[in-house]
Amino acid sequence: MNDLFNSFMKGPDENGRFGDFGGRFVSETLMPLILRLEAEYEKAKTDDSFWAEMNDLWTHYVGRPSPMYFAQRMTEHLGGAKIYFKRDELNHTGAHKINNVLGQILLARRMGKTRIIAETGAGQHGVATATVCAKFGLKCVVYMGAHDVERQSPNVFRMKLLGAEVVPVTSGRGTLKDAMNDALRDWVTNVRDTFYCIGTVAGPHPYPAMVRDFQSIIGKEAKEQLAEQEGRLPDTLIAAIGGGSNAMGLFFPFLDDKSVNIIGVEAGGKGVNAKMEHCASLTGGRPGVLHGNRTYLLQDDDGQILEGFSISAGLDYPGIGPEHAWLHDIGRAQYVSITDTEALEAFQLSCALEGIIPALEPSHALAHVMKIAPDLPSDHIICMNMCGRGDKDIFTVAKHLGWDMTGAG
Ligand SMILES: *Cc1c(COP(=O)(O)O)cnc(C)c1O
Repeated sequence: MNDLFNSFMKGPDENGRFGDFGGRFVSETLMPLILRLEAEYEKAKTDDSFWAEMNDLWTHYVGRPSPMYFAQRMTEHLGGAKIYFKRDELNHTGAHKINNVLGQILLARRMGKTRIIAETGAGQHGVATATVCAKFGLKCVVYMGAHDVERQSPNVFRMKLLGAEVVPVTSGRGTLKDAMNDALRDWVTNVRDTFYCIGTVAGPHPYPAMVRDFQSIIGKEAKEQLAEQEGRLPDTLIAAIGGGSNAMGLFFPFLDDKSVNIIGVEAGGKGVNAKMEHCASLTGGRPGVLHGNRTYLLQDDDGQILEGFSISAGLDYPGIGPEHAWLHDIGRAQYVSITDTEALEAFQLSCALEGIIPALEPSHALAHVMKIAPDLPSDHIICMNMCGRGDKDIFTVAKHLGWDMTGAG
């Protein structure tokens, strides 16, 4: 463990560093905004009324706690470890994103902000942000790569129904990375009334720590639920990683429990190869600076950020949260990758055995469960984060399986 901390609960340091990672690599114009945000978050963090409001919304609006479900047929089928799903796909809006959005928007309201901006790739964070903005009557502007606007039209329509303005981003290559850059520019230009709501454990400090704290409700509940259902800690935690927020949320409350194995699953696309047809920033990338923090990134030899490739649009962020980069380097967590083909198999198995249509993102986590569970003893408890439901992915899956979805087949 890093000498700086005698507990993983204390990170990052005052400069937002997790070991060599994180920090705040931002322009002078952005710095005062970041410092204000940090000060307000530090205040809210220890304010009981802030958490009381969060808990009330988590309970009555999101539907928390999400269940801890023993996947009995999956367990029997794999014939090894005992498998539990943390059911965050049952949340309002169908994924874990809303846990964090609620926190940031309550903070925005405390700061007197009336306009919320967000970036989105596949559209899940955009939908969650538009949802909470509608609930509180806040103006919502979502930056989305022009390419993604085309690919993810149902989510674009959802955001518009919820009253958000969707801005297609054509700068750069029109991807999630460029959408995040445009959102940062908007923030600097509209300092007074605008709050930037980031969708994963990335960005300049305090975002990675703040988003982690809001998502930690997942791990906190998981710990209590397993204590009640099994009377002990799990042996292994597994979660899929795009930027790393659902994983950080599950992992964080267990980091000091040394007996717990922690595994993050990156999107291996067509395989972690030289052609970079994957999104595995840790297993196939190198350290660099993007979006205000230092972390592992997908980049070419000249340091150009690469787009990445995955069947799952929600996993194609070219970086990974700095805390994961640190946990990887010091060896507290292990990071693996799963290919598109393996994720598709896991997707189908969950449908067939458990009656749960998972999103393609947690299908990656499940594929790794399928790899390791058969070789583990029957008293080994695996807890996997089922972080999103698969309704959004059925057409993608149908296409890959060669099914005719026009109704004629
Ligand atoms: C957005 C999303 C992800 C990836 O984001 P993380 O920050 O890595 O959690 C994974 N799963 C689902 C269902 C998502 O919507």
